[in-house]
Amino acid sequence: MRDVLLGGQLTPVVYLTTINDKSIYVKQDYLNHAEVSGNKLRKLKYSLLRAQALKQTLLSFGGAYSNHIAALAAAGKYCQLQTVGIIRGEELSDTSRWGKTLRKASNDGMKLHFVSRKIYREKEIYPHVVDIQNIIEQYPNSIVIPEGGSNQLSLLGSAEIVQELAKQIDMQKIFLACGTGGTMAGVIDGASKYAPSCDIVGISVLKNNAELTKSITRLSSACEEVSWTVYHEYSFGGYAKSPPELMAFMDDFECRYAIPLDPIYTAKLFFAVFDRAKTAAPDTPETWVVYHSGGLQGRKV
Ligand SMILES: *Cc1c(COP(=O)(O)O)cnc(C)c1O
Repeated sequence: MRDVLLGGQLTPVVYLTTINDKSIYVKQDYLNHAEVSGNKLRKLKYSLLRAQALKQTLLSFGGAYSNHIAALAAAGKYCQLQTVGIIRGEELSDTSRWGKTLRKASNDGMKLHFVSRKIYREKEIYPHVVDIQNIIEQYPNSIVIPEGGSNQLSLLGSAEIVQELAKQIDMQKIFLACGTGGTMAGVIDGASKYAPSCDIVGISVLKNNAELTKSITRLSSACEEVSWTVYHEYSFGGYAKSPPELMAFMDDFECRYAIPLDPIYTAKLFFAVFDRAKTAAPDTPETWVVYHSGGLQGRKV
């Protein structure tokens, strides 16, 4: 089971196209597992190993469509670990309102608790909100993972993205989509060890997320050693906004390259990469790698 989920198989790096002397490749991490795909598996890897070793429950937070919740539930099933999800929105106690993500998480054995948006929001400010503490206390032997899955253990797993890439390709830039920035922080740590001259470029999918740069700086221990940038202008109006221009780009991309995207993260990421390539200086050939972080579970089919 450990081999299936956490084994050492490298996900492919494939050539996409060249724009303005920038050769663009894709690290297809959406292929790393059928159900726990992409960066969410990278982020969970060491928490899963720890929970297995210590026979712990994994408890975390998310919204009704959260890729992290979906990944945690599926990983729990594969690793035979108890998982618990604290979900935003008390109206979701009514199971007829569940979408695909919650139905699948529940089928995978995740125990779900629903809290109001107000209480959910308060946990950001006061980590010990009573209603949430009461839930957590029901699972005394548990690892509590923050929303989105970014913690110290997730950095180790995300750093391995660069460790793998350094074996596969010689690159000048790695692009990735950012939500909380936890994956990017780990990738920066990984770059300092395995690809110190590589630039790391994050594309924020949230609107005006001033916290992003702070979070990356707080989480990563290599921010001073590695060159990195975050772009905020490719959020297309904000999280989970999918205007027609983005959807048209996504359709065209999928037809052209036969690589599936999701509208929340990876469609914005590839749009941004093409835009950066078009406006980059043409006379400096470079190899760019785009980290395809998965997210395909949330797609409406
Ligand atoms: C969660 C997620 C991200 C963002 O990861 P962070 O570590 O929160 O920045 C990027 N891509 C996909 C597909 C995701 O599911």
